[in-house]
Amino acid sequence: MLNSARGRRKLHRVWLRQDGMCSNCQQPITMDTRLDVTHIVKRTDGGTDAASNLQVHHLSCRRNP
Ligand SMILES: [Zn+2]
Repeated sequence: MLNSARGRRKLHRVWLRQDGMCSNCQQPITMDTRLDVTHIVKRTDGGTDAASNLQVHHLSCRRNP
C-alpha cells in the first residue's frame, strides 16, 4: 500500500490528522523519520484501509509489538 502514490497521499492525510506527531510517543514525525503505519481497528476485527482507520508512528515505536 505504501509503495503507491495513492498510499503515500493517504499516509500524508493520516500524518496531518495527527499534527505530524507519533501516535505512540507524541514526538514529531519528520519526513525523513522511518515511520510505520498501523490499523486502529485491526483488519481481523473488521477494520478498513481508510485513512480514518490508520495511524502513523515511528518505526521503532510500536504500541503493540
Ligand atoms: Zn514515536
